[in-house]
Amino acid sequence: MIDLHSHTTASDGTFSPPQLVDEAVRSGVRILGITDHDTLSGYEQALPLAPPAGLELICGIELSTKLHGHSVHLLGYFLDPLLHLDGFGVFRTWIGDLQASRRERNVRLVARLRELGLDITLEEVQKRGGGMTGRPHFAQVLVEKGYAGSQQQAFDEYLDESAKGYVTRREPEFAEAVGYIRKAGGIASLAHPIRIREDLSEILPELCAAGLNAIEVYHSDHSPEQTGRYLQLAKQHGLRITGGSDFHGAAKPEIHLGTGRGGNLRVPGDLVDRLRAA
Ligand code: AMP
Ligand code: FE
Ligand code: FE
Ligand code: ZN
Repeated sequence: MIDLHSHTTASDGTFSPPQLVDEAVRSGVRILGITDHDTLSGYEQALPLAPPAGLELICGIELSTKLHGHSVHLLGYFLDPLLHLDGFGVFRTWIGDLQASRRERNVRLVARLRELGLDITLEEVQKRGGGMTGRPHFAQVLVEKGYAGSQQQAFDEYLDESAKGYVTRREPEFAEAVGYIRKAGGIASLAHPIRIREDLSEILPELCAAGLNAIEVYHSDHSPEQTGRYLQLAKQHGLRITGGSDFHGAAKPEIHLGTGRGGNLRVPGDLVDRLRAA
């Protein structure tokens, strides 16, 4: 089994890198892509554990980008630190800047929530998020403190782009992020396209012109019909295909590594060979 979309405690997953490697083995996943938000550190921690576990690891990342002012998630794959490409060093520095902008945003987000009367501190949130604290960790704290009934309610009321607590952070433009991934020797894949819009065909030419290499056809949020449609679009536009569960551990308990939501995910066995061949 193949799963090219997963998160560890290095971002907003609840499985540490060693636990994720164990989970892959337990679930029968043979090739695993770790795609933490804005960081490669989960992949790097898991890397030495993979060969003894008989697991092939693929270096990935998930970036939040902006397209016409809307948030679009982008996956980068085969960003291999061991290749020593110049572009990789530049990429690493660049994601360091993204991490810094996130930390600075978190300070303002705490201030904003306190202004709204919530008793919450940066320390509390960072305790859950570690080096890569994000809004999902804020949501956890809001639930624990009784300010929201669920993490989704915390987003709806306070943290979503349209909610009263939202503060902006610098997110790179879509084309900029694609450029950095490609110069680092990676390939750029559009994450869970269903979250952008049902009908992608109108914006795909623009995304391709920006240098997009692939789309995430297989994902836990896609119905069989949607998967079929994205497959067709990928063919039409000469895009490669990626796929994965978007496993976050207990943060999204309904999603299982390798098999998705109630077994709705089946990433084709030759997908990674096809990605590499192209
Ligand atoms: P951040 O990168 O810290 O701004 O947090 C972004 C993450 O929060 C995304 O990757 C999603 O996992 C989650 N998220 C963003 N908006 C929502 C929403 N409206 N409902 C639930 N989760 C969301
Ligand atoms: Fe996430
Ligand atoms: Fe995502
Ligand atoms: Zn993800």
